[in-house]
Amino acid sequence: MHPTDRLQGETPERLAERFGAALTLPEARRIIAHVVQRGGDSLLGVQQLRTTARKVVEAELPVGQVTVVERRASQEDPFVKFAIALPDGAVVETVRIPLERAGRYVVCVSSQVGCAMGCAFCATGMMGLSRNLEAWEIVEQVRLVATELRASGEGRVHGVVFQGMGEPLHNLDNVLQAIEMISNPCGLAVDARNVTVCTVGIVPGIERLASMRTRIRLGISITSAQTALRRSLVPMEGRYPIAEVVAAAKRFHERSGRLVMFAYALMGGVNTTDAEADALAELLKQMPARLSLIDWNPVAGLPYRPPTAEERDRFHDRLAGMGVPVIRRYSGGKDIGAACGQLATESKRKTRPRHGHPATGMGPDSGGAGPGISSDPE
Ligand code: SF4
Repeated sequence: MHPTDRLQGETPERLAERFGAALTLPEARRIIAHVVQRGGDSLLGVQQLRTTARKVVEAELPVGQVTVVERRASQEDPFVKFAIALPDGAVVETVRIPLERAGRYVVCVSSQVGCAMGCAFCATGMMGLSRNLEAWEIVEQVRLVATELRASGEGRVHGVVFQGMGEPLHNLDNVLQAIEMISNPCGLAVDARNVTVCTVGIVPGIERLASMRTRIRLGISITSAQTALRRSLVPMEGRYPIAEVVAAAKRFHERSGRLVMFAYALMGGVNTTDAEADALAELLKQMPARLSLIDWNPVAGLPYRPPTAEERDRFHDRLAGMGVPVIRRYSGGKDIGAACGQLATESKRKTRPRHGHPATGMGPDSGGAGPGISSDPE
């Protein structure tokens, strides 16, 4: 057993295969439903599970434990942000985002503690990568929100978006394993078509998704369509130029049939110029796509600002005038720091690690589309 393996990362099929004759598939299904759907913290309450089967699973795969160290609900809208402590003391952020249709929510999850991509406008990027999240740690973020929604009667999780801390295509094995569980009928039963993986543009990862003919949705954070500007904001532009990213996204679309979501965080005076709009229109005309514009959320110490209303409108109207299918997204939860990592950072300061080393940094994908890309119902 890998020391970080936990039950929430295993689908029933994977579990049954792992234990062979010691555990039947129906037993594995009951175990996963108990732990993931009902939040059971041990296997004692699992019905119709042989004692020998329970003991063999318990000996190898414990139930993973995470803790909500802070929950901050917006006073302006139904956004809720959670700071979640992992077993090694690292803290990640998870955001509950309301959809327009009442009772439906999207969960914005983190895939890494910190991030190695180094985007200039992102608090997480400045802090570097501490570690990848395990599949079960991703699953638990969704489960916690689903459990709370069910208990409060507010609704259910309709979709999941990988747009919190970290670059999901930099942790793709674990992200895909988590999605298996998130979409498994015995797990969280979220339709895979409502799961969006948002990337800054890791071409091999996009190609891998394309080759899988997956049902999940792909989101691309553009930031700029002009090479020099993008390179100054997104270091990965040097390795994977945006034209190659869009070409890979096009292949993903052709093979999956899924519309690719492009997200664009508007930074006033930086990427809101007419020249930028023109370059963006030129770039996106190569493929069917939808573009979401969202205001960049301020991060203390960074030399950027959100756009003015005039900048936002002009940029939008210019794109729309060139036939780009563009929408403006509401950047909700501003009063709870929905996109700048404040909650996790504050919570981390307050929370002592129980063991292991503390995370070196955190913060959600403040430079991506923000939660806005996820609030787009299928
Ligand atoms: S914007 Fe996203 S990919 Fe870039 S550093 Fe931040 S978390 Fe990483």
